[in-house]
Amino acid sequence: MKNQSNQSAFPIVVVGHIDHGKSTVIGRLLYETDSLPTGKLEEIQKSCAKRKSPFEWSFVLDSLQIERDQAITVDTTQIWFNADGNRYVIIDAPGHEEFLRNMITGAARAEAGIIVVDVAEGICEQTRKHAYLLQLIGINDVIVVINKMDSVNYNQHSFDKIEIDIKAYLSKIGLNTVSTIPVSAIDGENLNTKTKKMNWYTGQMLTEALNGLVINKTTRTMQLRLPVQDVYRHLQKRIIVGKIESGSLSLTETVRVLPSNREAKITGFIEWPVKSKKNGVADESVAITLDKDLFVERGHIISTTTSPPKLSNTISVRLFWLGSEALSTGDQIELRITTAVYDVIVESIITVIDTSDISEIQSDQIKHNMIADVVLRCRKKIVYDLFKDNSKLGRGVITDGYRILGGCIINSGKNLTITSKNLTKVPQSVGIQERANVNGYKGCVLWMCGLSGSGKSTLAMLLQRDLFARGINVYALDGDNIRSGLNRDLGFTEAERNENIRRVAEVAKLFCDSGTIIISAFIAPTIESREQAREIIGNNFYEIYINADIQTCEARDNKGLYAKAKEGKIRDFTGISAPWEPPINPDLEINTMQETPKESLERIIEYLNQKILSQKVI
Ligand code: GDP
Repeated sequence: MKNQSNQSAFPIVVVGHIDHGKSTVIGRLLYETDSLPTGKLEEIQKSCAKRKSPFEWSFVLDSLQIERDQAITVDTTQIWFNADGNRYVIIDAPGHEEFLRNMITGAARAEAGIIVVDVAEGICEQTRKHAYLLQLIGINDVIVVINKMDSVNYNQHSFDKIEIDIKAYLSKIGLNTVSTIPVSAIDGENLNTKTKKMNWYTGQMLTEALNGLVINKTTRTMQLRLPVQDVYRHLQKRIIVGKIESGSLSLTETVRVLPSNREAKITGFIEWPVKSKKNGVADESVAITLDKDLFVERGHIISTTTSPPKLSNTISVRLFWLGSEALSTGDQIELRITTAVYDVIVESIITVIDTSDISEIQSDQIKHNMIADVVLRCRKKIVYDLFKDNSKLGRGVITDGYRILGGCIINSGKNLTITSKNLTKVPQSVGIQERANVNGYKGCVLWMCGLSGSGKSTLAMLLQRDLFARGINVYALDGDNIRSGLNRDLGFTEAERNENIRRVAEVAKLFCDSGTIIISAFIAPTIESREQAREIIGNNFYEIYINADIQTCEARDNKGLYAKAKEGKIRDFTGISAPWEPPINPDLEINTMQETPKESLERIIEYLNQKILSQKVI
């Protein structure tokens, strides 16, 4: 027998109608791939001879099951085998309930399914039901084994007919048929030995089809996801420990930590006794150090900087409920995604499916063994991937602290916004116009946009000082300041930049309503992001374009950022490696390439006098 470690084993589930040969396929496959414990086959054959009963390959499974039941072992539901240099683990699912439980509890999570169909009987009730369950729990790829070809004399027409039927059914329910293979499990045809009895078949045998799946799905080529298990302090160093769920990471690489969205460089892999490690790959447990003392704790996720996981307070999931008490809207449950634990509330139940007969029912409760599409809400930001993008961070388990009550796969996130039906705006007791009458001017937002180095901050500060001296209630919102406080959880992806601007606009609007003149100095690189701000703020939004071309800004480079961006040390830098869309029709344009700051200030004041401050003579 070959090595049976479970490290990086590719998990598969085998399903099929009773007596179609599921156990025989598994038993024979273990034999064919030399994965049986030494002497196991002889032992079973001897015992059959003694009882004078015919040998069945399914006894191999029974015998392994008995051994597992007797042994004190953690993995009670898994069978390993090796083929073509890959390691596989079959999730043994003896019954309907165990099947669901095993699939969702994390003890065993299949990446692909094998559906066994008896060529003489074709698709039966359980074939349909199990296939549908595979689809429901998020499995995409299946291999169809059309078994017992010996019972139809290896006849091609019998195979063709079933193949057409099953492919049509699987595609109807949204499963991808990777391969349909004619097999005789009893004779070992087309499992790990190419058939000589079916010359008409030129496709893959079972182990070849499995190998194709592994190559397709390898987690090493996926984006880095390292859930933090623990953080230790040792000799002034903070050592971050965890198992890499997908992707890889290497020394000196810059990584992002979620949910804080901070970035840092990997400065070392801590190992004992050897100290030569320079990288880590999926399924490996690693201990790393970073160049910055970031706040990192159990449950945080370390990822690539380019494709980080998503962050949201609400997620839409397909949930499998195993709890004895029904789950209802408003209930609070504990959701675990890798090492993170979130207290979530069932915000809404959209559809419920009764798995006993796979029927959709209208209900505001999810009863034992039912599957439902629901929206979950959390006060904290949930770090997740969509299940279709990365199954590791796209699944969760629901517990009550001790017991597993269910599981879920994440279908989508409701991006960064919480909308509650229970919100009612309270009318202000002091109106906007009333404040304007007292102050002599209306609150407004002067939205300065332009490249880094164009002069936004300089002018914002001069303008603030000037207006303040005139007794005007003014406040400057600065990009860097907001990013180090309110928006410190945001990075620089397009979505995060838009969210940054959305929040700034919402804050500016509140100030504006309070009668303050807000000067905002943000790069806001896209027309869309500024339009979004205008939409939030409304009539009192004034776009002021601080115009200096990229060459001028680069030559000024007062913060040294252009130099860094050109060296590739800052990614997504506006104008260099991220887009800059100048305003098409700004309310006011200031050209800092031609004017001195004093001149620019005078022009802004002149504009304000005309447009905004006209009621108050300065
Ligand atoms: P399961 O309920 O799907 O696990 O089915 P089993 O593996 O227990 O097989 C049910 C019956 O079908 C047993 O009597 C097997 O010997 C028989 N069987 C399984 N595979 C084949 C096959 O390839 N050819 C023939 N003729 N019989 C098979």
